Amino acid sequence: MLFRTIKNTTTTLTVVAIVLVCAAVVASSIEEYEKLYLEATRGDLDGLSENLASDLVHLIASDPDMFEVTTTLLRLDRYENVKYAVVFDNNWQRLNVYFGPLFVPEELDSAIDINALKQQPLGVSVKNSELVALKLVGDARLPLGYLLIVNDLSGPLYNSKLTLFKSVLPLVLLVLFIAICVSMFIQRRLFQPLSRLSQVAKKIQDTHDYSLRIDTGGKQEVAELSRDINSMMETINAETQKNAKYTQQLKEQQKAMERLANFDGLTGLPNRQFFMETLRIELAKATRDQHNLVLMYFDLDGFKGVNDSFGHEIGDLVLMEVCNRTRNILRDGDLISRLGGDEFLILLHNEPNELELYSISERLVSGLNKPFQIQSWEVQVGVSIGIARASDSNFNVSEFISNADIAMYRSKMTGRSTHTVFVPEMMEDNKRRLLIANSISNAIKENEFSIHYQGKVNSDEKIVGYEALIRWKSEALGMVSPAEFIPIAEQSGKILSITKWVIKRVCQELAQVQKLQNNEVVVSINLSAHDIKNVGLVDYIRNMFTRFNVNNPSIEFEVTESAYLENFDIANQFLTQLREMGCSIALDDFGAGYSSLGYLTQIELNTLKIDKQFVDNLNVSKRSTLITKTIIEMAKQLNLQICAEGVETREQAEFLIENGCHQLQGYLFSKPKSLVELLDV
Ligand code: C2E
Ligand code: CA
Ligand code: CA
Repeated sequence: MLFRTIKNTTTTLTVVAIVLVCAAVVASSIEEYEKLYLEATRGDLDGLSENLASDLVHLIASDPDMFEVTTTLLRLDRYENVKYAVVFDNNWQRLNVYFGPLFVPEELDSAIDINALKQQPLGVSVKNSELVALKLVGDARLPLGYLLIVNDLSGPLYNSKLTLFKSVLPLVLLVLFIAICVSMFIQRRLFQPLSRLSQVAKKIQDTHDYSLRIDTGGKQEVAELSRDINSMMETINAETQKNAKYTQQLKEQQKAMERLANFDGLTGLPNRQFFMETLRIELAKATRDQHNLVLMYFDLDGFKGVNDSFGHEIGDLVLMEVCNRTRNILRDGDLISRLGGDEFLILLHNEPNELELYSISERLVSGLNKPFQIQSWEVQVGVSIGIARASDSNFNVSEFISNADIAMYRSKMTGRSTHTVFVPEMMEDNKRRLLIANSISNAIKENEFSIHYQGKVNSDEKIVGYEALIRWKSEALGMVSPAEFIPIAEQSGKILSITKWVIKRVCQELAQVQKLQNNEVVVSINLSAHDIKNVGLVDYIRNMFTRFNVNNPSIEFEVTESAYLENFDIANQFLTQLREMGCSIALDDFGAGYSSLGYLTQIELNTLKIDKQFVDNLNVSKRSTLITKTIIEMAKQLNLQICAEGVETREQAEFLIENGCHQLQGYLFSKPKSLVELLDV
């Protein structure tokens, strides 16, 4: 305990050293004193005994006067340390004896050993802590007797030493005290920087404040140590701060990861995973409590086009706006989630009745149909909604979502910006869709497809071209309309093989078709928007042209606006290559879809095909008539050929020709026919 700290150890050792030194000094001075005392006492005794011996000479010379001798000896009374004195005659017979106050007379006989005395030299000697003076009385040549004085040495020496010690002790203690105080003071001074250092260290330990610094004063070693510790602290501080920053970063990352794991980064809406988790729990609750749940699946219409035309930045802003509007339309308890892309899922918090559901859906459709003002753009998207009830899926999560998806798909098919409630019959449709999708590859292998050609006439009703339209006579499904299987093929990634098949077949049959008219009629091939993304397709077309010796300008390709809307640059690149090969390009179904007139000037087209719906409405709706007129006018200004589709009546034909339409296509002139049928005519 005492030696635990350096300070205590050195202080203790210093005190011990001082005490030892003092003790040594006192001891040596006592020893010195003892010598001096002995010397002095010896001198005194020598003188005294000498005097007494000479005084005794005449007293014992002749007839010894014992009284006088006794009186003389009594002079020794003044010397308190004299134990006894004996006067002998020259035959060592005792003449007289003196006893000091400390001596017991009975002990005299045992104390005196005559024989030893006889041997003892004259003078003063020390014997058994006694000072013994033996003097000759008289002359050596004529000795009269002997005087023996025995002086106590130990008692007086002890007393004298004690006195000395007593007188010296306060001084010694004072010196000791001062020395200890001084030493402790110095120690303190020396150790102060060290204790300061330890205090700071303790404080750092308690507060974890590594910015604290130690005073670098004090002796060189301590100052150096303090400096070293300070620089170490600086490093620790820097490291700690770095660590703290790193920890903070880690925490933020962890939070971000959690957010990422459960929430959509763009809209902040719960993501698929979070939604599925919640849905699972809600379904379990609903099964238990026997209530129904309603799920809405919605997908934006034309969102890809927004991304491609305005860029992803605007696309993202649109998604955020969609999310805001949806939130405003729905109630607080409804769970909205973004599945990814432009697909959203909504779990309604209660089970609305038919009417309420209709109202919610209508509000969503009309709310999201309104144009978005984003930066300086006005952007419009629509929404197709599919609605499903949990009871229709036996409260099974994936079936529940799948049903909503099927209903959503139905909305998309029946014309965008609408909502459809799932009914079990749709499952049948879905099954059929799956069956169709799965049968396509086999249909190509089994040669179930064929081409029908529908003539296009000019204003003189002379056939100037044919549109190649695919037909499918499926062994399992019977006749399947392209209007049904083409969208399914597009969605299931099978369209490219169909397109290739059509291109090949048209190239094969081209010569025969052209021969029919004895001229170079142009045959149009429909391309899907999905085909445009396929770079290899241009090479395929080139190969087929070479293989079947096709005169390139005899082929026209029809594409819909959606091909451009999905990715303008890619579509333009693709179609420019075809144009460079000498083929012409027609924009199909114009007016039916987005009709973004703006880009018409930016793409290289030959023909604009006015969609059947306008032709149908000619003379029925003034608006339609006006729009058709405007389209024709505008196309003329852009130097485009105009072809009207779906012409079924004379009136329609007349109107269109009157207004400057170059080509007409429709049942009025010719229905799509197989090559065999065509050759039959
Ligand atoms: P589309 O490209 O607009 O083709 C015109 C459609 O209108 C054809 O239907 C045609 O038979 C029909 N049609 C033509 N004139 C009249 C008319 O006067 N009245 C009526 N009611 N309909 C008329 P189809 O052959 O059923 O094809 C439907 C759609 O399927 C086509 O529309 C086209 O988008 C797609 N399609 C057909 N063949 C192919 C193909 O080989 N490749 C691709 N990618 N799509 C094709
Ligand atoms: Ca077409
Ligand atoms: Ca068309």
